[in-house]
Amino acid sequence: MENALSIDVEDWHHDATRPAGPATRAEIETVGSRVERNVEALFEILAAHDTRATLFFLADVARDQPGLVQQACTLGHEIACHGLAHRPVSGRTYDELRDDCLAARKTIEDIAGTAVLGFRAPYFLQPPDLWALDVLVESGFRYDSSYMPLRYFPGDVPRLDGAGGAVRLENGLWEFPLPLSRLPSGHVLPAAAGGFSLRALPFWITRRYLERFNTEVGPTVVYTHPWEIDPESPKLPGTPGYVRWFNNVGRSRMRGKIARLLSTFRFAPITEVFATELAR
Ligand SMILES: [Zn+2]
Repeated sequence: MENALSIDVEDWHHDATRPAGPATRAEIETVGSRVERNVEALFEILAAHDTRATLFFLADVARDQPGLVQQACTLGHEIACHGLAHRPVSGRTYDELRDDCLAARKTIEDIAGTAVLGFRAPYFLQPPDLWALDVLVESGFRYDSSYMPLRYFPGDVPRLDGAGGAVRLENGLWEFPLPLSRLPSGHVLPAAAGGFSLRALPFWITRRYLERFNTEVGPTVVYTHPWEIDPESPKLPGTPGYVRWFNNVGRSRMRGKIARLLSTFRFAPITEVFATELAR
């Protein structure tokens, strides 16, 4: 079975959790961009395992680093959209989000020279954010891969199709959620989803829960970020301590873990893994 591998292409300064607001031009220039070298390092790991992925580009990154988008196209990766400037969906209006999505999709499509079918929301989507799925249809997307309802206490979470697999929504959009797994403690958490779990926890946890998800539900989507393989990637001054910890833990071991993941499972872009669904 093939799973889908997804990479949310954003730089070190795109985190919007700082109370003082987004990075200033001066703050960005102090460190400079690190996204290009990190994505190229991911390209090398992917090529060594003969694997292609879906790259959800932030439109800001695509505009500043168009060569990176074109390189991804040349290597056969799928180009998709991570929004305009990495702001969470919650707290935004319908019209704001629609304008953001339309502008982001057009920016990325113009650079890539290919249609962009997929969207991944910054900070993922929680149950109160599901109104955004109508915005995505209106903005021309065919699928979303953002739904990851998190609760940090034991108990059930609201899965869109009951099991947590791919689901066709009433508005025609396909949702390919991030996989959630039930732990022995009763917590339902993204143990098989990549990202923090792959970085912070022993590799066997990802392997066990991804195998289980594949057996019980089917193929799914795993994610990572370019900054997760970069131990030198800084945080903006004033970033909350819990965000620093969450984003820093395990980064020095992440390259090796991604390589191990690609040796253990087979991956492909979302549009290939879910080609049958998207053709319906
Ligand atoms: Zn993001």
